[in-house]
Amino acid sequence: MTKPLEDFTWQEIELGGILREPGSARDYKVGDWKSQHPVWTKSHCIRCGVCWTVCPEGAIIEEEGGYFDVNLDYCKGCGICARECVIGCISMVTEEE
Ligand code: SF4
Ligand code: SF4
Repeated sequence: MTKPLEDFTWQEIELGGILREPGSARDYKVGDWKSQHPVWTKSHCIRCGVCWTVCPEGAIIEEEGGYFDVNLDYCKGCGICARECVIGCISMVTEEE
């Protein structure tokens, strides 16, 4: 019988969450988690790239002409891009069922 977790010392707890290969995040599509996704009003965008730098998932892609959009496979709907956009031209839109 295994003992309760609180009875283990930290030295006895098995290591977990080890990333063995660089770039493995590409294998984990987190897009299904989101309840909202960002939408760009490109006519207002000044192409500064701030949204691209702040996305924690690397889900924002640069398009031809220097505008940006989202790869929905990796966006988890956190809204950071919309919050940090210097112009306010990204809106978070609720996912349809
Ligand atoms: S909502 Fe979050 S995860 Fe999705 S593109 Fe914006 S910053 Fe990235
Ligand atoms: S932060 Fe806003 S203005 Fe800057 S590139 Fe992104 S969408 Fe455009």
